Amino acid sequence: MTTDLAAFAKEKGVKYFMISFTDLFGGQRAKLVPAQAIAEMQEDGAGFAGFATWLDMTPAHPDMLAVPDPSSVIQLPWKPEVAWVAGNCVMEGSDVAQAPRNVLRRLIDEAANEGMHVKTGIEAEFFLLTPDGEQISDPFDTAEKPCYDQQAVMRRYDVVREICDYMLELGWGPYQNDHEDANGQFEMNWEFDDVLRTADKHSFFKFMTKSVAEKHGLRATFMPKPVEGLTGNGCHAHISVWDAPGDAAKTNVFAGDGDGPTGEVGLGERGKHFLGGIMKHASALAAITNPTVNSYKRINAPRTMSGATWAPNTVTWTGNNRTHMVRVPGPGRFELRLPDGATNPYLLQAVIIAAGLSGIRSEADPGKRWDIDMYAEGHKVRGAPKLPLNMLDALREYDKDNDLKAMMGAEFSSAFLKMKHQEWNSFVSHFSRWEKENTLDI
Ligand code: ADP
Ligand code: MG
Ligand code: MG
Ligand code: MG
Ligand code: MG
Repeated sequence: MTTDLAAFAKEKGVKYFMISFTDLFGGQRAKLVPAQAIAEMQEDGAGFAGFATWLDMTPAHPDMLAVPDPSSVIQLPWKPEVAWVAGNCVMEGSDVAQAPRNVLRRLIDEAANEGMHVKTGIEAEFFLLTPDGEQISDPFDTAEKPCYDQQAVMRRYDVVREICDYMLELGWGPYQNDHEDANGQFEMNWEFDDVLRTADKHSFFKFMTKSVAEKHGLRATFMPKPVEGLTGNGCHAHISVWDAPGDAAKTNVFAGDGDGPTGEVGLGERGKHFLGGIMKHASALAAITNPTVNSYKRINAPRTMSGATWAPNTVTWTGNNRTHMVRVPGPGRFELRLPDGATNPYLLQAVIIAAGLSGIRSEADPGKRWDIDMYAEGHKVRGAPKLPLNMLDALREYDKDNDLKAMMGAEFSSAFLKMKHQEWNSFVSHFSRWEKENTLDI
């Protein structure tokens, strides 16, 4: 593991470091620091004016410093003279409480204090569009059911192969790539890891995919529903909990006590309580897993052209069945299918731990397992909440959930709610064409 960035630069021929941090809206911000200056920056951090980003700060706040975490450093495979490194935000000697990577680090420590080490794998779907973002980039990609389309994935081989080669080089353990369920949509999978590493990889994957797409004259987007009527960009998270972090993990805590009455679904007592927390807090945590106005055009959506949205609409769980919010695909893990491509990589992992830990502490019951096709038979479900219908509903659910707000941190929660309400207000004050089309002659 890298500990000295100056030595890393020397050994790898790195000329510049991007000291990067992620704000509350998931924006990745960076300073480019020449290798000659990195030793000092590694100590003190790179300075930023917090107000200039989405962190709920004023212009009067002191400088915020992003202190690089050297263990996260990645040499850009497509531009090896540059290396990316995630920074932890600090102000006047203390961690900035609402900064997403700090929120996650605090929750990782809380879980570790209770002997739990969460590992996750994510599926960050994306579209390849024309550079102006107006259309899918491949005019021949028009099939009604385009999932796994062999011809279409090969027309984008140059982009997909390049990204996959880079993940191989980085040792992420990529294992499959495909054309997804919407025209112009792709998914690339790599192996699960400790949550902080998954969050850093998720951030870097977005940066890398956008960069490689641009290099090929295209535009990659992770927007939840970039094309009306087509399946949206999900970001499913697969979750398990272990006895130790990293390679020291030996026992899957979720599967360990999975015998007995709950064994048939693959989750033991602790896994079920963790899942219970996710179920209990689902409507509130949607504010984080589905954080934009556009997110709600993916969940609760009408059937897409391919025949199914593959996104949930209700808080239900099941076995190996993709029509519910949570799927248990195998022993010792579950898949949360709610998150979308707009989710903040750090807050996604943080809210999973926050809800799960709260579930463990309260011995939450995940409720009934529904082995039905939710899209066709959803009306049979009684007592399961519907997911929020829009961003404002989700923010209100989050605001009502005092337990989740406290788990995520009071300062984070108030900063997040404030910024997101401002965003909602900006959206509703926008005069839309729909209004004119539908109410001009009223
Ligand atoms: P699917 O499309 O069937 O949902 P994918 O193969 O696309 O599944 O993605 C599965 C993700 O789950 C990968 O990142 C994989 O490494 C991860 N995963 C597998 N087992 C576990 C586990 N025990 N804990 C956490 N993540 C896991
Ligand atoms: Mg200046
Ligand atoms: Mg997948
Ligand atoms: Mg998929
Ligand atoms: Mg999945």
